[in-house]
Amino acid sequence: AHCSYFISTVCNFMSHEKCLKNVKIPCSCVAPSLVRVPVAHCFGPPGHYKRKFCTVCRKSLESPAFRCEVCELHVHTDCILFACSDCRQCHQDGHLDHDTYHHHWREGNLSSSARCEFCKKTCGSSEVLSGMRCEWCGILAHAACYVIVTPECTFGRLRNMILPPNCVQLFSRNFSKLHCFRISENMQTESDEDDDVDGSTQGSTKDIQISTDSSKQTLKIFDGNDAVKRNQFRLISVPRIAKNEEVVEAALRAYYINDDQQEYELQTFTQQVLLSDDVINRNDAAEDSNLGSVFRESVPEAWIIRAKPKDEEVIRIYPAWLKVGMAYVSLRVNKDSTVQTVIKEVLPLLGRQTECLQNFKLVEVLMGSKQVQRMVLDNQELILNRLKDIRKTSIRQMNQTRFYIVENSKSIVQVNLFVGGLPPQLSPEEYTNILKEELAIKTNVVSVSHVYQAQGAVVLQISCFSEAERIYMLVKDTVVNDKPLNAVVIPAVM
Ligand SMILES: [Zn+2]
Ligand SMILES: [Zn+2]
Ligand SMILES: [Zn+2]
Ligand SMILES: [Zn+2]
Ligand SMILES: [Zn+2]
Repeated sequence: AHCSYFISTVCNFMSHEKCLKNVKIPCSCVAPSLVRVPVAHCFGPPGHYKRKFCTVCRKSLESPAFRCEVCELHVHTDCILFACSDCRQCHQDGHLDHDTYHHHWREGNLSSSARCEFCKKTCGSSEVLSGMRCEWCGILAHAACYVIVTPECTFGRLRNMILPPNCVQLFSRNFSKLHCFRISENMQTESDEDDDVDGSTQGSTKDIQISTDSSKQTLKIFDGNDAVKRNQFRLISVPRIAKNEEVVEAALRAYYINDDQQEYELQTFTQQVLLSDDVINRNDAAEDSNLGSVFRESVPEAWIIRAKPKDEEVIRIYPAWLKVGMAYVSLRVNKDSTVQTVIKEVLPLLGRQTECLQNFKLVEVLMGSKQVQRMVLDNQELILNRLKDIRKTSIRQMNQTRFYIVENSKSIVQVNLFVGGLPPQLSPEEYTNILKEELAIKTNVVSVSHVYQAQGAVVLQISCFSEAERIYMLVKDTVVNDKPLNAVVIPAVM
């Protein structure tokens, strides 16, 4: 190294000291707020990636890790939850999008011979996570230089072969890219349960060894009820004489939460009145539940991060019709605020006060790394209660959640679903009958639009999302003549 290094204590970010002033890398705790359009990643099965680094914790990937097949995001198995859905948007979702595209920057894991587009010096490294690459056009730049590069991306040398997102239309709702591209047939990530794949991870012990230094103590930190249920914790090491605030601060940092520590507190398991029965009955958790009262030198104490209750707070509402940038309006809400009053107060702030409230809905969007989940909120729901519930589940989840105000769409739903694995050489009527029998397709919203007799496959045109999702899920568990069926969502190419 030719000059001194700066290392961020929150995200382990490393930079040359003198280069730091130009660096604008979001650390994992602020990354969710910088997502332009939430798009889930498409992780293949875990693999061994040599001399690659995790985008979340920036440490090397020595154990099996995940890589996004679309945008080359690399993450540890126990860091995957902290990655947010900032994948490349490869299609449009029924809206008319803008037709200029921005570079989609992904940091690090470049070859060590990579050269910066801007300053022409080496920007890759196999020692640390460094350098940036556009996942569309492939240009390379330093973290300090990429901010100067023109933001518009023209797709580079392969532009004649790239289908830009505005040419690929897919009414996807809760379908993820996995559903469309079928990259990992047997992955658990396809299930509805977002975090299944790391459900067996028993906390992260690799970062902090149990301290032998008697002036320090090691604590198990759980992020809300969700982590308790999965018995997923992170270990922190703090001085025995640490102040309460310092412990809370360290706990938040372990989860990449950048909020003010005064808004949070730590509760021991014994203070938990909200623990669900299945946790108490589990053997591994039962031991932990005693830790609040019984001091044991060898076992770390277990704590849960909790948000302190609030009587009012400021929330951000993102207008879904603005597809460019991260524009939002801030709104103060109190204990009487409902989804309905939020919509009513937000519309004038967006210049749409003359429009009818009934034409809008508030959608909660969870920007998970593996799936973007959208949920329409009930008009009567108290907004502070909703925030409280999310934080009770997981503070990280709150950090990855956005609220969008969405215009009720008048557009026509049309999902094209390819179903393969059927017996070959049948007539269209015979295929329809098999599908009626095996999948109970509703013929008022489903029709067979193409038949591939030689391959034993059909394309279904479906005019209802929930029916499309139902058929898709059912197909995966259906066997016809001893052959399993398979399904792929087909985008429309214009
Ligand atoms: Zn330097
Ligand atoms: Zn990591
Ligand atoms: Zn990705
Ligand atoms: Zn580019
Ligand atoms: Zn450069």
